Amino acid sequence: MVRDEKLFGLIESEKQRQLHGIELIASENFVSEQVMQAMGSVLTNKYAEGYPGARYYGGCEVVDQVEQLAIDRLCELYGAEYANVQPHSGAQANMAVFLTVLKPGDTFMGLDLAHGGHLSHGSPVNTSGILYNAIGYKLSEETGTIDYDAMERLALEHKPKMIIGGASAYSREWDYKRMREIADKVGALLMVDMAHTAGLIAAGLLDNPVKYAHIVTSTTHKTLRGPRGGVILMGKDFENPWGVKTPKGEIKKMSAMLNSAVFPGIQGGPLEHVIAAKAVAFGEALDPSYKEYQAQVQKNAKAMAAAFVKRGYKIVSGGTDNHLMLIDLRTKFPDLTGKQVEKVLVKADITTNKNMVPFDSRSPFQTSGIRVGTPAITTRGLKEDQMETIVELIDRVLSDIDNESNIVAVRKEVNTLMAKYPLFAW
Ligand code: PLP
Repeated sequence: MVRDEKLFGLIESEKQRQLHGIELIASENFVSEQVMQAMGSVLTNKYAEGYPGARYYGGCEVVDQVEQLAIDRLCELYGAEYANVQPHSGAQANMAVFLTVLKPGDTFMGLDLAHGGHLSHGSPVNTSGILYNAIGYKLSEETGTIDYDAMERLALEHKPKMIIGGASAYSREWDYKRMREIADKVGALLMVDMAHTAGLIAAGLLDNPVKYAHIVTSTTHKTLRGPRGGVILMGKDFENPWGVKTPKGEIKKMSAMLNSAVFPGIQGGPLEHVIAAKAVAFGEALDPSYKEYQAQVQKNAKAMAAAFVKRGYKIVSGGTDNHLMLIDLRTKFPDLTGKQVEKVLVKADITTNKNMVPFDSRSPFQTSGIRVGTPAITTRGLKEDQMETIVELIDRVLSDIDNESNIVAVRKEVNTLMAKYPLFAW
């Protein structure tokens, strides 16, 4: 067969883009060569509907071991009792939890999208907001941090069946213990979506929600540095209060219900090649060197936030405890939208994403903020002292956005800097 030059040419172009630029999208990272190899392996050829030991297809002896390895490593990483590694994405993992614990029309609470929450936590355009009654809790306008007292008042008022912690654009640590107390007070279930901070949590640098939440979901491709995908976990305290009686009268455990929600509830055959790559990434996260990487991600984020503040930028909440920060452009560049900033920075080979800031007067398509994060540049090997350089390069572009020669000059500096941090060995 003729090689598909067209497609592989496109992949090469994307590889060059990733190599030459400064990647600041907080939800992106670069996987290791062995994660990549597992994803591109013969496991993609195998159908394996079901779970290890109980499949609907023959020939699953090997993929059973692959999937069990991923489950065991994930449980070890977070001290969990149960794990499902089949969700194709973070949104799928969340959808499976909704399907398990809520009925259409039921009320739940999640962080408002405009305040840093994720689409799958109740946005009106997502199934979570279409099928269920979503109530958004918000950040305090004064501090830019979660207002737990207001969350409690909202929970007492609306009596949600589930409360969700976790976010896509929140730079501070969560008080999961307080959230569990609120959930217990109103008889709600606590779910934490740790997608963004999963890597820092695995390294012990942030509190572990598995200790407090009934159910934890995550993606595997952000700070965690695995392939694109999702997972669901449960800790120790959760064998049966949430079991339900079946028509036959037996108690069905939450773990069985979650498994059924993923398959056959919302998915067909699992992606065993991706599950294998998840297993590799979990193995890497169990290695002592992973702690150093995550500590550097956090140090870089703190250094970057300080460099932005030094140049007069406003960071929502004033700083960061994790790998990201949300820059409110209204203080330094009131006339610039997040959309314009994202676009002009791409011209200089610096990738960020526009993001709404709390109490934003602009729409999600324009926004008054950008979100930046350090997981990807830390994987490239950049350290704290380069954070000041990156912020200086960004500031030069934003201070003169119509000056094309200035942008070209910055892009050259970006490319020269990144050439010192090679990435792909293949
Ligand atoms: N949950 C959170 C908190 C996220 O930030 C994201 C993605 O950005 C998701 C879930 C969804 O993950 P995916 O894009 O894999 O569906």
